[in-house]
Amino acid sequence: MQPRLSRIGQKMSRLTGVRAIMKDIIETMQSGSGKWINLSPGNPLILPEVEAMWREYTAKLMAGKEFGEVVGRYGTSQGYMPLIDAIVTFFNKNYAWGIARENVLITPGSQALYFYAANCFGGPGADGTSRKIVLPLSPDYTGYGGVTLDDDTLVAYKPTIDITAPHRFKYRPDFDRLHIDSNVGAVLFSRPANPTGNVLTDDEVRGIVNAAAKHDVPVLIDSAYAAPFPNLVFTKMTPIYGPNVIHCMSLSKAGLPGERVGVAIGDAKYIEALECFQTNSGIHSSRFGQALAAQAIDSGDLLRVSESVIKPFYQRKAKVLTDAFERELPADVPWHLHEAEGAIFAWLWLKDLPITDKELYQRIKKHHVFVVPGEPFFPGLKEEWPHKHECLRISLTATEEELEKGAAVIGQVVREVYGK
Ligand code: PLP
Repeated sequence: MQPRLSRIGQKMSRLTGVRAIMKDIIETMQSGSGKWINLSPGNPLILPEVEAMWREYTAKLMAGKEFGEVVGRYGTSQGYMPLIDAIVTFFNKNYAWGIARENVLITPGSQALYFYAANCFGGPGADGTSRKIVLPLSPDYTGYGGVTLDDDTLVAYKPTIDITAPHRFKYRPDFDRLHIDSNVGAVLFSRPANPTGNVLTDDEVRGIVNAAAKHDVPVLIDSAYAAPFPNLVFTKMTPIYGPNVIHCMSLSKAGLPGERVGVAIGDAKYIEALECFQTNSGIHSSRFGQALAAQAIDSGDLLRVSESVIKPFYQRKAKVLTDAFERELPADVPWHLHEAEGAIFAWLWLKDLPITDKELYQRIKKHHVFVVPGEPFFPGLKEEWPHKHECLRISLTATEEELEKGAAVIGQVVREVYGK
């Protein structure tokens, strides 16, 4: 018999789109039929130099006198103080943000942070207004689809599309449509973006932040791929901070996804509310990963490894895949690759695709290659838009050889589908 679930229980116990696809991929691969090229993972690779750095700090922590204090005692919900101090020092020294301890909160990964924020600032308010969580540019991170407790609170906006070069494009926020007023609880976007690799320009971010500031609306800038760590940025961008900005970071793409370390930097009034939400829901994040991070930030090693190892590794993969698509995709098909400005994915738009993205996924799968269909990356965008069914996400975590072979298969299937 099924458990009797509440309305929230029903929403939260559903697998969101991309998790359902991932389940299919794992089950198919486990069925053991032949060799697969998997261009689907969102999980970052374990890079040897990065792993070695975390191993070294683990050994130091275990040998050090604070080990017992770190694992043997509860701490404050705000986070492990040496990590908070390391972040305050780092951002004041490198970005002159003028922050203090009260501006920082550590969470068990940044997904938890978005969940807290969406439900602290969005949904039915004490004043009777039900406030929205606005994604100003769709597509964006599929995980945002799970952060609100009902389906109506999340609202996403269609972007404008800039054709930047032959077979290249870039999404931009559509300021003519984007509407932010006091009925908005918070604004949220990733920069660089998963799944597209898009980096909103500094001016675009300021446009959003200023529009939100007029109505005292906080803007969460999901910097899971941004500088300073892991610095998966291949274009020019400045991290933007301000009174209504909550700068959100994650150490997951800097080699610590298993340790669950997320960071929020923002005005104390926001940080305090989010901290209480965290106390109520999970007390605090594991202190072991926080203690490792504190050391690696203080020493400068995390900054160095991000810049010299993590960033060039994925930047090179982006180039290999772009070159492979140029070779393999037919010139007379209206395919467009999103400008590779950051993160660990490529995003392919096949304009006027004669079949859906899911059907295309199935056709590519028949050749033992997995990609991710694009539709689950439009959470909150309720209106129909053919574009939602014309895109694929390709992960840069595969080897260069796999990326090239995968691009050849995608090229072959695209040719068949368009009859070229
Ligand atoms: N934000 C973006 C854009 C992501 O891609 C991810 C994970 O892939 C997350 C947030 C969540 O990361 P974590 O909870 O590990 O910090």
